[in-house]
Amino acid sequence: MTTHPKYIFVTGGVSSSLGKGIIAASLAKLLQAQGYRTTIQKLDPYINIDPGTLNPYEHGECYVTDDGAETDLDLGHYERFLNVPTSQANNVTTGRIYQSVIDKERRGEFLGKTVQVIPHITDEIKHRIQILGNSGDYDIIITEIGGTVGDIESLPYIEAVRQLQWDLGENNALVIHLTLVPYLSAAGELKTKPTQHSVKTLMESGVQADILVCRTEHELSDGIKTKLARFCNVKKEAVIQSIDASTIYDVPNLMLEEGLDKVVLKQLDLNSDQPDLSQWNEFLSRHKNPKSQVTIGLIGKYVELQDSYKSILEAFIHAGAENEVKVNVESIHSEYLSKDNVKEKLSHLDGVLVAPGFGERGIEGKIDAVRYVREHNIPFLGICLGMQMAVIEYSRNILGLDDANSTEMDENTAHPVIALMESQKDVVNKGGTMRLGSWDCNVETDTLAHKSYGHKEIKERHRHRFEFNNDYKAQIEAAGLKATGYNPETGLVEIVEIPTHNWFVGVQYHPEYKSTVANPHPLFVSFVAAALEYKDNK
Ligand code: GLN
Repeated sequence: MTTHPKYIFVTGGVSSSLGKGIIAASLAKLLQAQGYRTTIQKLDPYINIDPGTLNPYEHGECYVTDDGAETDLDLGHYERFLNVPTSQANNVTTGRIYQSVIDKERRGEFLGKTVQVIPHITDEIKHRIQILGNSGDYDIIITEIGGTVGDIESLPYIEAVRQLQWDLGENNALVIHLTLVPYLSAAGELKTKPTQHSVKTLMESGVQADILVCRTEHELSDGIKTKLARFCNVKKEAVIQSIDASTIYDVPNLMLEEGLDKVVLKQLDLNSDQPDLSQWNEFLSRHKNPKSQVTIGLIGKYVELQDSYKSILEAFIHAGAENEVKVNVESIHSEYLSKDNVKEKLSHLDGVLVAPGFGERGIEGKIDAVRYVREHNIPFLGICLGMQMAVIEYSRNILGLDDANSTEMDENTAHPVIALMESQKDVVNKGGTMRLGSWDCNVETDTLAHKSYGHKEIKERHRHRFEFNNDYKAQIEAAGLKATGYNPETGLVEIVEIPTHNWFVGVQYHPEYKSTVANPHPLFVSFVAAALEYKDNK
């Protein structure tokens, strides 16, 4: 416990995609493992209010918190590393900052003043940064600033950091600058100049980096570290190498070896101790020493982009480690799946996951895939749209409701087995209006879901507008697809299963958001176990 919260700002230089989120999460892990209550916040310099309206091609997966915030996928890393839920306060965008300042202006709260970037926008940023600190729940707040230093749109954030460092006083805040030290193979040398320039750019805004974390493909020699320290005005011990790792889960240990936590705690005038990473390292050792392997097909329409299904891929890593199995995820594009090639594309798989999604593209391929795995007893997990496709497939092919569909895809279908919730019918705006965040679900006993969770009352996160249409429930259940989980207040169906199948589960919610290293998600764990059993019995 600290007497007042300490702040760490993480900025990026030279290039995007250096992995600020992973560095922030790894540092947070090391601090948490020494007893400091740590949280991480992401500031995103774009004008969307949140990434909820962004296409995965633009921004990767949209991550959802318990309190229903649609957020940057880095929050998923924070939760997976720390096993502590994040909230709306952990992700702020320029859009949200401007929206609240403009709302205040309309309410007349600026008393006739001209509203300006400095001080009004920067004050709002400073306020948002300190919300987590002022909550009393945390000793250390790590704030990751999206984008790269020098971007026009990051300027107000950098200015807010400059001001906050003054406001907070010495030893209460520090700046970590994540940069790239490229290797020029023709010269056979690592180059420090881009980092020097990036630190200089930061200094033009009045911010001095305290610690450099240097992404590199080769070891930084002592000489390079000395040079970086000298030119960038930091202590040599504060030049931290971040070498490419085979898994993101190695990064906390790599940062520990480099002493990042020690340098940070020293500069913040806090005690440092040996972090207790025993649970983390047990996970790593199971992850790296699998006893067998399974291949699971991930069927979606954004599979060419790794970040689109980030939380699902990570949940497989957690569940694989738990089962001591390596999970090979084979991406299958739903748009190119059809009745004619489904056997060729799926018959070798040990399990199939049909992914969440929106809109019509690729859904017939998903339906063909569900039919194939249902008829061939291949373990199946359908998430959100994947669950909806399972209900449609069953209605079409078992109940004989030929044009059964979701009203999302066909508004005039004769059999809307998936339909818009009553509360969604009058919704006009697209942003932030879905059924979002954590909802209660009661799980029926003697079901796969109950066996997996081990208890009846669960809470899971949602992000969708359409639902299982209860008008069809009796018919669908009589034909063999059972509803095995309900929202207790609304009676909405949250889980469906086929009890006569090997392992067939569809969930309206997103279990992947809640899977962490410390708490692999029970449904993923039991799905991977089922895939292994299926493979062994083949
Ligand atoms: N498009 C579907 C709906 O809105 C499913 C959403 C999802 O898969 N997240 O209900």
